[in-house]
Amino acid sequence: MAEIPLVFDAPKRGMPQKHFADLTHEERVSAVQELGLPKFRVDQIARHYYGRLEADPTTMTDLPAAAREKVRDALFPTLMTPVRQISTDGGDTTKTLWQLHDGTLLESVLMRYKDRATLCISSQAGCGMACPFCATGQGGIDRNLSTGEIVDQVRAAAATMAAEGSRLSNIVFMGMGEPLANYKRVMSAVRQITAPAPQGFGISQRNVTVSTVGLAPAIRRFADEGFSVTLAVSLHTPDDELRDTLVPVNNRWSVSEVLDAAKYYAEKSGRRVSIEYALIRDINDQGWRADMLGKKLHKALGPLVHVNLIPLNPTPGSKWDASPKERQDEFVRRVIAQGVPCTVRDTRGQEIAAACGQLAAEEK
Ligand code: SAH
Repeated sequence: MAEIPLVFDAPKRGMPQKHFADLTHEERVSAVQELGLPKFRVDQIARHYYGRLEADPTTMTDLPAAAREKVRDALFPTLMTPVRQISTDGGDTTKTLWQLHDGTLLESVLMRYKDRATLCISSQAGCGMACPFCATGQGGIDRNLSTGEIVDQVRAAAATMAAEGSRLSNIVFMGMGEPLANYKRVMSAVRQITAPAPQGFGISQRNVTVSTVGLAPAIRRFADEGFSVTLAVSLHTPDDELRDTLVPVNNRWSVSEVLDAAKYYAEKSGRRVSIEYALIRDINDQGWRADMLGKKLHKALGPLVHVNLIPLNPTPGSKWDASPKERQDEFVRRVIAQGVPCTVRDTRGQEIAAACGQLAAEEK
């Protein structure tokens, strides 16, 4: 399978010092041995990090006292410092703004429901995909996140949930960035999120969703990894003419190429692909587009697809708006009439600019 084209490779400038979560098992073993520690310490440290959700070795009291600071300095640089935290939905939704070691800002959103807790994480600081309706896309890309910076968002939220006597159950890569443009680090993060403790956080693969603009070759490569993670494809319209402007990368991989790749993913993973569709008033919300969407998806993916409608969150200064409720209902009805399940996503966190596509780090 071809590598992701270089044009999507964000600058490496600003990557943090290597963290425990950036290393393979072998690299961890040599790192602790360099500190003069036996290799069983690797598993012990992993149990602290993935199992007890601790990121500071000075609190790992079963490590020899003299080794704790050395382990911290060599393997646990501070990756993220919380700058601000805002809550809404009666405290059920919290957005955290993090500052990275080089000053880069990034956001993650924790949503608590009755039966689950979902964390929306970022894979890049900013995004290079330039979708005109998305606040992050408007700001451009700062840099890729390191594996550790992705994984540590999960650790921090899992620790928050544990402190609340609950558990983090779901992860969606729907924060800032295009996950498949930071391919290797995102794959490593997915492995660490889903591996059972002490190799990972033990979150079920079925409860992890990777959302992409539709980098077709990367979707195929992702399918070949053999995960049963859910793939979400941000389609937003079934026709190339409009998609060329709504999701500019469509100029490179068209709707049919993206749907072919999605089908390959669905077949390999056995998971339904989720088609993301932000409904924008008078732009992509026409009844005929709903019919076309339903027909194309049914033809391309049969039963292996589900449409997730997202009422547009208007970004500041945008001329676009969400569709009226009746238009939305009609759209849902017409997609379903083509034999494709379609639901409207609940939009948590709107008042705190934590909803879909709004993670633009306002203080930038
Ligand atoms: N780059 C990836 C993941 C990040 S965005 C992707 O595009 O899939 C997560 C989802 O939010 C995507 O479906 C994206 O299109 C959608 N989104 C972005 N801005 C939005 C907005 N203003 N209103 C509603 N959805 C938006």
